[in-house]
Amino acid sequence: MSSTPLPTTVGQRHSVGVTPVGVDVGVKNLIAAAPADGDVESAFTIEGGHIRTRHEALVEAMRALQGAKFDSTEGQIQLFAALWHQIRPQVYDAAVRVVRYAQEFAGPMLVLEDLSFCGASLWERRTADDVGTWLLPALQHAIAVKARDAGIPVKHVDPKYTTQQCHVCGELGSVSQDAVECTTEDCPVGTVSRDESAALSIAQRANLAEPTELTYYADD
Ligand SMILES: [Zn+2]
Repeated sequence: MSSTPLPTTVGQRHSVGVTPVGVDVGVKNLIAAAPADGDVESAFTIEGGHIRTRHEALVEAMRALQGAKFDSTEGQIQLFAALWHQIRPQVYDAAVRVVRYAQEFAGPMLVLEDLSFCGASLWERRTADDVGTWLLPALQHAIAVKARDAGIPVKHVDPKYTTQQCHVCGELGSVSQDAVECTTEDCPVGTVSRDESAALSIAQRANLAEPTELTYYADD
């Protein structure tokens, strides 16, 4: 199919005793997680509809306040703080649950995509249309904090094509809203859920030959 060089070695051998657990953060599924040698059907997922609804309310309210004829900065700050106060426990609860899931495996290591968000804070991104832009860095940060608390190392990997790439043959499939279809002849994968598939691809990108250190993150 595609001859694009891919940033991974699918099916690489893993160091004895370490289980890379890939975590795909998103919006439809807040989290999809699976070990490198797992399967799509048994991936761990947390649904994100509730947070999406809250985020939509936040963006709408922020826009209204920014369009006001008076200085609304104080109001924006208060509203933002109130909404983050409602959402934050769910974000951290999701992080705790994915860390617990990882702890079911021997020598767990959490593998996250290396998403760059230019270092902008949640507050600076408060009118971002796309809930993903707003939520994903917060979610990744929460996972890193909770992993640190549990003594689980975290590795960041190249995010390119993690959704499109087939977790078995490594070729790029065709992606729809919920699914990815591998069209490689002889590949048994067929059509699978995309977030769960991405979690597997992310886990497989952990290069265990590199030393992994515990990274320290400050609580927010
Ligand atoms: Zn395939």
